[in-house]
Amino acid sequence: MFIGHGSPMNTLESNQYTRTWEALGKNLPRPRAILCISAHWFIGSTVVTAMPDPRTIHDFYGFPQALFDYEYPASGAPDLAKRIAELIKPDWIGLDQDQWGLDHGTWSILAHMFPEADIPVVQLSINAMKPFDYHVRIGRALAPLRDEGVLILGSGNVVHNLRLIQWRRPEYGEDWAVDFDQAVIDQIAADPGKLGQVVSHPGFSRAVPTPDHFLPLAYIAGVATEGEGTAKAFLQSYTMGSLSMTCFQVGDGPRVNQT
Ligand code: ZN
Repeated sequence: MFIGHGSPMNTLESNQYTRTWEALGKNLPRPRAILCISAHWFIGSTVVTAMPDPRTIHDFYGFPQALFDYEYPASGAPDLAKRIAELIKPDWIGLDQDQWGLDHGTWSILAHMFPEADIPVVQLSINAMKPFDYHVRIGRALAPLRDEGVLILGSGNVVHNLRLIQWRRPEYGEDWAVDFDQAVIDQIAADPGKLGQVVSHPGFSRAVPTPDHFLPLAYIAGVATEGEGTAKAFLQSYTMGSLSMTCFQVGDGPRVNQT
């Protein structure tokens, strides 16, 4: 599943996005664990959190104190981290014991999907040094986790241009933003494994001025390629002109109800 996460303030708010995430958490089969690929862990290597108790990371500034006080106390899943490292071979990934934790790309969504924080969570970093197809390939390698009761969650935004944001237009999307978002929806529906083709779309450089928020979708495209061969968009929506909040679901989420 891919969720457009938008502002960190969604953690504390109740709006059309957060209510949708809440309903998802109630309606999906309960996962055994969650693997999140968050836009906000964009570094020079591929690493998975492997500590038993990941800390809540407040990776932003200029927001109300209540957001800095927010904690998402889910446990980690060291065994799942090792399993992920196995699945990704022959590519190498690191097992992070003490550097990262859960950042707001992960917990702003899980605060609504699974407010009890009683499902173990691991985060996978996005390797900024790798080409686009690497991220799709890693997503493909991770697909078997769906049969093991793991919810694979990408957290970013299809269109994410902070420079062009119009703060006073919370329910508005510029035409170019809607156009690019729709092209991505069509590509994911038709052939998710070729998501990289959207780089040639005329709106790409404006919609994706930096790759961090777009790339979580590459992983979900990989998962979709190995599974149903498609993923459907839901909550197609735009905010502040240059952000898309569109979400995608592959099949019915995790296939096995393991507790
Ligand atoms: Zn973000």
